[in-house]
Amino acid sequence: MEFRDLKSQYQKYKYEIDSAIQEVLDNANFIGGIDVKLLEKRLAEYVGVKYCITCANGTEAMTLVMMAWDIKERDAVFIPDFTFFSTGEIVSFRGATPVFVDVKRETYNIDTYKLEKAIMKTIEEGKLTPRAIIPVDLFGLPADHYEIARIANKYNLLVLEDGAQGFGGRIHGRMACSFGDAATTSFFPAKPLGCYGDGGAIFTNSDDLAKLISSIKVHGKGSNKYDNVRIGINSRLDTIQAAILNVKLTAFMEHELNDVNVVYKLYNENLCNIVEIPVIPEGYYSSFAQYTIKLKNKEQRDGLQAKLKEYDIPSMIYYVKPMHKQGAFLGIEINEKDLEVSSKLCETVLSLPMHPYMTEAEIMYISNIIIKYIKN
Ligand SMILES: *Cc1c(COP(=O)(O)O)cnc(C)c1O
Repeated sequence: MEFRDLKSQYQKYKYEIDSAIQEVLDNANFIGGIDVKLLEKRLAEYVGVKYCITCANGTEAMTLVMMAWDIKERDAVFIPDFTFFSTGEIVSFRGATPVFVDVKRETYNIDTYKLEKAIMKTIEEGKLTPRAIIPVDLFGLPADHYEIARIANKYNLLVLEDGAQGFGGRIHGRMACSFGDAATTSFFPAKPLGCYGDGGAIFTNSDDLAKLISSIKVHGKGSNKYDNVRIGINSRLDTIQAAILNVKLTAFMEHELNDVNVVYKLYNENLCNIVEIPVIPEGYYSSFAQYTIKLKNKEQRDGLQAKLKEYDIPSMIYYVKPMHKQGAFLGIEINEKDLEVSSKLCETVLSLPMHPYMTEAEIMYISNIIIKYIKN
């Protein structure tokens, strides 16, 4: 059994994907071109924003936004404590300080009450300048973006939606990657919309930001790439990856997003009185990058993972460590007590196989092993 079955997906779309790659090879146009342009247009339309700018990966997508906003030393950027390392890494990479904020136990997303407290505390201490918030749409579920927008407005902060896992999610019909002043996503193969290597994108409605990022991602270009008006980087999405994504985006829209939600419902029906199942708040829709359950304690979680392994069922712990316990961030001042939920989650969560190509039989098989393990 696969944790995320990319092989079945390829088999189903083999003809379309092979042809798309072949066409790029035949044209020998490996950077930019119509595949990238078309993908950017389709992604912007799907998400409902004015601009989509593709780039090399999700981490650089976020870095490009940090560069465009001139996030720098002595700036504070508020991020959830329970997320993938990138979300904090890109802040420290700019010399700024990530301020870790606890998450909500139910949704795994940033706790907006604690977020506001952390902002007020940072202002009071006066050592750092609050500049931005990076909410993460963890496991496919959009963060509480309307409340985050209210807070950002009140304290005059920028918002970058880290939608690396969130592409396809929505709140009352408004799509993930359309919130905040800018949003980013990742096309890493295992993400909701993945390519066959690395890839990423930035979304925004701002003309100025789009223009600036388009320059920074190509060596700070002015009128062309040999006219350089600022220091930038080289961060492009390969044409081959764009061609693959154009096929995969169609599959994603036609059935994959719906299919993971069918898997979620089946899992939930089987497991609702057995373990703590994912909570999708009223009006929210998740793209289920992960289906993550909570166990009673670390012992029960580790025991279940071992049991699943006996039956050749892969499972993952996202995340083993909260951000504030990562070695790279050990110099940053924190108060353990403010980050209790996130620390506890690291001991009790377990992510089960989840992808659009799961069969009902597989879901039953996994569920029954979990039920038997918990009841014993
Ligand atoms: C995967 C991920 C990223 C980084 O994306 P890459 O394309 O791997 O660089 C950033 N944030 C979150 C929450 C992620 O899951």
